[in-house]
This record gives sequence, structure tokens and C-alpha cells, in this order.
Amino acid sequence: MFSHRIHNFNAGPAAIPLPVLKKAQEEFLNFEGTGMSVMELSHRSKEFERVLERAIRGVRAVLDVPEDYAVLFIQGGASLQFAMVPMNLALPGKKIDLIQTGVWTQKAEKEARKFAEVHIAASTEAENFSRLPRPEELQLTPDASYVHICSNNTIFGTEYNWLPETGDVPLVADMSSNIASRPIDVRKYGLIFAGAQKNLGPAGVALVIMRQDLAERAPKNLPTMLQYRTYIAENSLYNTPPTFGIYMIALTMEYILEIGGIRAVEARNMAKAETLYSAIDNSGGFYRATAHKPDRSRMNVNFRIWKNNTPDEALEKQFVAEAEKAGFAGLKGHRSVGGLRASLYNAVEQHSVNELVRFMQDFARRHG
Ligand SMILES: *Cc1c(COP(=O)(O)O)cnc(C)c1O
Repeated sequence: MFSHRIHNFNAGPAAIPLPVLKKAQEEFLNFEGTGMSVMELSHRSKEFERVLERAIRGVRAVLDVPEDYAVLFIQGGASLQFAMVPMNLALPGKKIDLIQTGVWTQKAEKEARKFAEVHIAASTEAENFSRLPRPEELQLTPDASYVHICSNNTIFGTEYNWLPETGDVPLVADMSSNIASRPIDVRKYGLIFAGAQKNLGPAGVALVIMRQDLAERAPKNLPTMLQYRTYIAENSLYNTPPTFGIYMIALTMEYILEIGGIRAVEARNMAKAETLYSAIDNSGGFYRATAHKPDRSRMNVNFRIWKNNTPDEALEKQFVAEAEKAGFAGLKGHRSVGGLRASLYNAVEQHSVNELVRFMQDFARRHG
């Protein structure tokens, strides 16, 4: 239907930077003179080893990962990490603390309960996850195995601008939907994980960044593929890794460094979010953001269309249909919350956000 690239606001899998796609296209049939695509290379070849090294080096450079942290690539998506983290990091007889901020922490809780007692240190479920808890609301367990948070709640559009003070208790963060969108201090975390398909590359691989010593907590009788130890010892090459996904992560990290690194990426993301939220806030109440202002996500902008003092689902449906015709994809809210959502991941250009705002203003004029 579209002969050109459309404005892609998908929540995940999501937009990938055009220069990354073009580079992958250029190298697709003949990767670095091998006469093969990356997908056809042996994962034990020198060429692939270099690809893996580029991906690791790229992640380390972009996120400023300290030496005593491992950078791992694991299949099974972020959802497998919901189980792997408690399997590996739960200490016998200790609780796991979890801050309940949406669907993804609920899923993490469900898995964690299979391995340990879970203590909900705070929850905003009663407010339909429209905000994050405030620091003073947290009831942390002093000797917990770890504290689990989701740094950006993809479905409800909230994002942390602060971190819980957990002392010696490791902080574990699901960063699937805001990894590499802003600088982070890796040292504040014990373990970070992220499915690649929002900000890093294609689906099929999860990035794990972890303090290496934490891998030694795991019982040695866990299945080999479910121990972080294995991935650390074998440099993510115990078995055939998701080679193409790792390659795409390498290209994406190199692209970030080329455009000025994580601070440049953050500046772009702040500008895009500011453009969209101010269009919503200045629409005279026609569009209304659903997340509490201080907790608004830069990555996932959730909003509703209001008419006669109530959200208007029919009008939202029409908005999505008209937007699709006009070349804007992925604006329907998650099935569990409804409404509208524009995901503004790294690869979404300011130009696309400007065009979306123009469309929104026109739609409001016609239907407001
Ligand atoms: C998308 C997403 C997930 C699920 O990722 P999968 O790779 O599909 O398992 C988990 N957590 C967050 C925050 C997400 O955005």
C-alpha cells in the first residue's frame, strides 16, 4: 500500500533507524566479502565473533557499562527474564521486592512467585497505573534478594525519573522500552534486561547487563541454558545465539555513537516527547494524556480523545482509521487499556512527530 516508509509509532516490534536498515540491506547478500549474509555465517566463525564483539563493545560504549558487568544476549525475550531473574538471583528464605506499576511487573511477579515469596513494595494498581509510586511510598524489605522495577511502563506510559534507594540489595530493572533512550548509571543496578524489539533491534534477543558476581547465586542444578553463569562463561556462545539480532544491535549501537551518543539520543527523545505532550496539553481538552504529569514517559505517550466530558471510544477508533490512511501506524492503545498511544522510540524522527501533531490538530478542528 505504501511505496514509501510510513510514520511508525508501533509499541513493539517498532521502528528501527533507517540508516541501520540501509546498512543491513547493503551488507545483506555479501557480508564483508564473505559471500554470505550474516544469517548464513557460522556462529563460530571469526567474522561472527567480530560481530558479537562489536555488539558488546557498542552496548558498553553507549551505556557506559563498567568492566565488572557482563553484557549478554539471550533468547526468549524479556518475558523469559521474568523467570530467569528469580531462578538465578533469589536467595533461599529471602523475599523478592517488586514495585507494581503495570502489566509487565505483574507478569514478572507471577513468575517470581514460582521461586520465592514476593513482597509488593508499592503498587499503583488502584489508580489504574496512571502514576508511579513516590519514593516515600515504598516499603522495601531490608534483606530482600533484589528489588524488581520496570523503568518504563510501555502500556500505561509512565517512566521513572528517579531510582529507589535499595542499599546493598541489588536493583533489577526491566528496561525493555526505554533502554538506550537516556543515560543511566549502570552501577546503580544489579541487573538490567531488555527485549531488543523496542530500542535495540529486531525481536528474538534480549540484552542482559549484570554484575558478574550475582550470577554465582544460582543453584548449579538449574538447566544450563537458564543460568546466567553459562552465558558469562561462554560469552553468549554456549549454543547458537540469535546471530542476526546481535548483528542488528551492533549496527544500532554504532549508529547511536555516530549521531553523538546517548546524550544526543536523549536530547532528541526529550524534544519529541515535548512536541507531542504540549500538543496534547494545548488542545483545549480534546486530547488528554492519561499519565500523571511528573511520571510521563518519553517513549510511550498515552492519551485519549474527550468529547462531552468523557472519553469517546468511537472517535478514537475513527482517529486510528484516519491516521492509518494518512500514513501513521501503531496509534491504537494497548488492548488492556484502550485509548491512543504513540511510541516515540529512538528511531522515530522528530519529523514524524511534527507530522502527527499536524494531523492531530486537523482532526481536532474537524471533530472537536
Ligand atoms: C515489550 C515488553 C516486554 C515483553 O517483551 P518480550 O520480548 O515480548 O518478552 C517486557 N517488558 C516491557 C517493559 C516491555 O515493554
